[in-house]
Amino acid sequence: MASYEVVPLRAFADNYIWTIRDAGHAVVVDPGDAQPVLDYLAREKLKLVAILNTHHHADHVGGNAALLTHAAVPVYGPRDERIPEVTVRLADGQHFVLPHFNIEMETLEIPGHTRSHIAFHGDGMLFCGDTLFAAGCGRLFEGTPRQMYDSLIRLSRLADATRVYCGHEYTLANIRFARAAEPDNLRLAELETAVQLLRARDQPTLPSTIGQEKATNPFLRVTEPAIVHSASARAAKKLSDPVSVLAEIRHWKNNF
Ligand code: ZN
Ligand code: FE
Repeated sequence: MASYEVVPLRAFADNYIWTIRDAGHAVVVDPGDAQPVLDYLAREKLKLVAILNTHHHADHVGGNAALLTHAAVPVYGPRDERIPEVTVRLADGQHFVLPHFNIEMETLEIPGHTRSHIAFHGDGMLFCGDTLFAAGCGRLFEGTPRQMYDSLIRLSRLADATRVYCGHEYTLANIRFARAAEPDNLRLAELETAVQLLRARDQPTLPSTIGQEKATNPFLRVTEPAIVHSASARAAKKLSDPVSVLAEIRHWKNNF
């Protein structure tokens, strides 16, 4: 396998277009805007070899068409006609090999944020779009709490060292909410300090890891007594199952 690095390109207010690159080639994940990608390819003298899309939202796919006029590359994405540019429609468990980089990627269907949202998992990396964020999860635009719970459980079963490349820089706001939901989580307090330092220097707080998320993300900790307690207090009734806890803290976060 060629050696490569993964670089975040900024788009809009807080999107990241994750770019897998080596000395001459690049793959982009969720290019919501073509311009930052085109600028980067020109500046670094890279040839685009593939586009990956996690879900149909414009801030993740809006740059597809312009990039394809620049380079006719395969576009890997979900089985959803709302992304017309996708050339390789992927089902759960389907594997494919990234052109040039020879990285084997596995597709995970993770509905919740949208009904056809997928993640790409391979070589110790997870590109999870707007489903799992550092210390948070996506809004439930098309899915149910049950679907989001099942999707997050699947992601949490990946190896702890898996690097988590999320679609947005939401970490600091997510941590503020997470600390309200689980005030005595020491790891969360430590993470907040580290993240504040990074943000003060305008640096990305990502990638996270699955291990970090299991220790700090309230949406992956819905069976922790402290989270069950604060969700129950919020609901003004005793919540006993993890899906109800997730639904309650998602609702709470929407209004936080
Ligand atoms: Zn989205
Ligand atoms: Fe998004």
